[in-house]
Parts: sequence; structure tokens; C-alpha cells
Amino acid sequence: MTKLIIAIDGPAGSGKSTTAKLVAKRLNYTYIDTGAMYRAVTFLALEKGIIDSPDEISSMTKNLSIELVPSESGARIFVDKRELTEEIRSLTVNKRVSDVAAIKDVRKELVIKQQAMGKAGGVVMEGRDIGSVVFPDADIKVFLTAYIDRRAERRLKEFTEKGKNFSIDEIKENLINRDKIDSSRETSPLKKTEEYTEVDTTEMTIDQQVEAIVNKARELIELRKVK
Ligand code: C5P
Repeated sequence: MTKLIIAIDGPAGSGKSTTAKLVAKRLNYTYIDTGAMYRAVTFLALEKGIIDSPDEISSMTKNLSIELVPSESGARIFVDKRELTEEIRSLTVNKRVSDVAAIKDVRKELVIKQQAMGKAGGVVMEGRDIGSVVFPDADIKVFLTAYIDRRAERRLKEFTEKGKNFSIDEIKENLINRDKIDSSRETSPLKKTEEYTEVDTTEMTIDQQVEAIVNKARELIELRKVK
């Protein structure tokens, strides 16, 4: 391996996307948002009216061609050549995505795709099971956390900036619900093990979060004489 695999996991709203995007930019690595893939499957399942049928969702997932294309603002997602970048960020998708992500065969399919995307290294991949399941041998494993109120504030800000109006309570409730399902599901639950370096971002600025991971990566790059 000539470049590193950096895994960033953690609960919803802990700052994973923002941090992972910027770390990738600083290291000239590729940013991979695995949550976007679960969201895309959820959006399509809702659109096709099969959201309550795990078997149908699993077979649909098997046949999807998913592409993550880097862009200035992070990553765009295309499924069978159709762009779903905006569509996957709705509250309707937020409300069902954890149920879809708990389906074993959906995870199996998406993990295969994620491993193919990252196997050459030079990636910053974020999600819930990257360091535990997708790349258990990742070179750096970071677990981002933050207090729930701070996470809800961040999500509210993101929604507001996009002109969407939700109450903080509605957002908080969704984050709590998703964390509960994501951490208690049978297949690859969100779990911090001792292999992870935990970074609590409650009181940290984005720059500090990014710096902490970039420094760690640069040390390893130097030590291993990789890029
Ligand atoms: O990261 P984001 O909040 O966009 O992820 C949406 C949902 O996708 C999570 O709440 C979780 O249910 C699921 N997910 C997952 N495993 C991943 C990434 C996301 O289960 N690696």
C-alpha cells in the first residue's frame, strides 16, 4: 500500500463529513461518504414504494451502480447515472435510513462496493463501521463524538443554510433515534472499540479537528515512507 486508509466513524452530526472532507483535501486523498450510499438506497426504496420490504430493498441494492464523484463541496452521488446528491438529504430519508442500514444484505452489498472504492488507499472514508468492518486494517481509525445538543445545533445550521426549516427538537429526536438504531442493530453496530482514537468535537473548531487527524496521518506517512 503506497497511501493510507483513514477511517472516521461516529454518531450522526459528530462532524464526520466536514472533517473527513477537509482531511482528504489537505492530504490530497479521496473523500468517501458511505452514509450517502445508505441514504441513496433509502431514497430509492421510498420512491419505489418498497421501503417496508427488506427483501426487495436487498435485491434492488445488488443491482445498483453507485458512483461518488468528488466536488468542491464534498461529493456528489450518482445511482445508475442519476444524480441524487440533494435528494438524499431530506428529513424523510433521515427518518428511514437507519432501518434500511440495519438490513444485513443491504450492508453486505454496500460494504463490497466500499471496499472496492478504497482498497488502493489514499482515502478518507467516513461512516459507522469503516474501522470495524469495511477496513478493519485501516491505518488510522478515528471515532468522532460530540454532545447531542451540539450535534443538533450543527444539523440545524446545515438545514437552515439550505433554506429548510425544522425545529431543533425534531432534529434532536431524529439524531437520537438514528443513534439508537445504529448502535443496537445486529449487523455491524456503531461501536467504539479500543482501536479507535476518540476525538470529542463538542468544544473543538473544525480546524482543530482536521489538524488532529492530519498530524496523525503525516506522522505515519513519514514513518512508513508512503504518500
Ligand atoms: O453519515 P450519515 O448520517 O449520512 O449516515 C446516514 C445513516 O446511514 C446512518 O444513520 C446509518 O444508519 C447509516 N450508515 C451506516 N453505516 C455507514 C454509514 C452510514 O449504517 N458506514
